[in-house]
Amino acid sequence: MSKEKDLIERFFRVLENPSSDIRIGIGDDGAVISSNSDIVTTTDTSREGTHFPANLEPKYIAYRSLAVACSDIIAMGAIPTSFLLSISHTDANDDWFASFSDGVKEFCVDYKCNLIGGDITKGTTCITPTFFGKLLGKPLLRSSAKVDDCIFISNTLGRGYSGRKNLSNTENNHFLKPNLPQNLIDAIASYATACIDVSDGFILDLERICDASKVGFKVALNSKHTSIGKEDLYCGDDYILCFTASKSDLENVLNISEDISHVGFITNSSNENEILYENQKVTFNKKGWDSFSQ
Ligand code: ADP
Ligand code: MG
Repeated sequence: MSKEKDLIERFFRVLENPSSDIRIGIGDDGAVISSNSDIVTTTDTSREGTHFPANLEPKYIAYRSLAVACSDIIAMGAIPTSFLLSISHTDANDDWFASFSDGVKEFCVDYKCNLIGGDITKGTTCITPTFFGKLLGKPLLRSSAKVDDCIFISNTLGRGYSGRKNLSNTENNHFLKPNLPQNLIDAIASYATACIDVSDGFILDLERICDASKVGFKVALNSKHTSIGKEDLYCGDDYILCFTASKSDLENVLNISEDISHVGFITNSSNENEILYENQKVTFNKKGWDSFSQ
């Protein structure tokens, strides 16, 4: 048996979980998924040294890389169901794969997803999951925010950033194991007019909604909305949702969960965008993470 086949059998095929939606899983040239609803698909690469530190425990590399990619499925208004997992690793040693496989398993249990295939190659450590998810209703786009809509965040900003600064504390560390708003998405999807997951920084991701919708924003946040402080508005690694909903649904949205906060309004022009933190005007020249400007 080839080394690659041996690794697949021992560390990945064992994670397969029979599911009525998966007609063909790991082992053939491709997987076959059955579905009677629209399927959302997305992929995201996490690279050692860029997206996670070298020598991070492999189970956290797995869990975090999966959560980061899965976050986009939820942001589209879908529930993740299955994923392919492409792994590039510098040296294929058993200890690394055993711990990595534990992280994949934990993620599959937490988010009720199935591993249905993938690839293993030798090279710079790089993890690329491709997710599939079932759309709950209409897709939640960035381009459909309306003037006067309320702006919400699904949880506190900066939890991933503070987790990254304190990697030795593995308990509830939102950098190592991002806690995705999977339980909220069904309710949020019934009210949201536009949605994005906050991955590169709240201000940058809110601007992406506003650019796509050709509108502007006014937001006012305070220490209740952040983990550390003002810097959390652009630090990234949040993996929460930023979404908009009509003013008439404000109470309905706030009733979904105590974690959700109303932080501002959509305006008709980006020329007057305004950010307040603790009642002080905030201007940033670094608005978020940009892969090509690092
Ligand atoms: P091929 O040579 O046809 O690309 P592979 O030997 O790469 O096939 O893979 C064999 C089977 O194992 C395929 O079904 C593939 O999807 C699955 N597989 C490969 N790598 C992984 C992985 N990391 N996790 C889960 N399944 C995998
Ligand atoms: Mg292959």
